[in-house]
Amino acid sequence: MDCIFCKIIAGEIPSKTLYQDEKIIAFRDINPVAPTHVLIVPKQHIASLAHLSDAETPLIGYMAKIANQLAREEGIFESGFRLVISSGEQGGQVVPHLHMHLLGGRKLAVRLC
Ligand code: 5GP
Ligand code: ZN
Repeated sequence: MDCIFCKIIAGEIPSKTLYQDEKIIAFRDINPVAPTHVLIVPKQHIASLAHLSDAETPLIGYMAKIANQLAREEGIFESGFRLVISSGEQGGQVVPHLHMHLLGGRKLAVRLC
């Protein structure tokens, strides 16, 4: 499949991986917009949040749990951070494989977009 994140998961494209288990992988964004910018990505190819089945919805809670864990490891748990999931073209999604952005390490804009 011609998917950048599936290639990262398969080890075909290198990434700065911070965490992985059987369900998800987390790696640093190649073009960070904050001092901490980590992508939390399910290993299963799901095109977007809008493609998530009812049975797959617990995955989002699990991704949030790992985001909390990574925020602690990055030293931003206490200072604060933001989780973002973009879905579809007008949602600003560029890579068509579900992912959550973990952003922090500076004061983020109050305005979301
Ligand atoms: P989206 O706009 O789809 O929510 O975010 C996609 C993110 O993936 C962008 O922040 C972009 O910088 C990141 N990205 C795209 N290609 C690569 C890559 O090959 N490696 C890594 N680490 N990040 C990537
Ligand atoms: Zn994929």
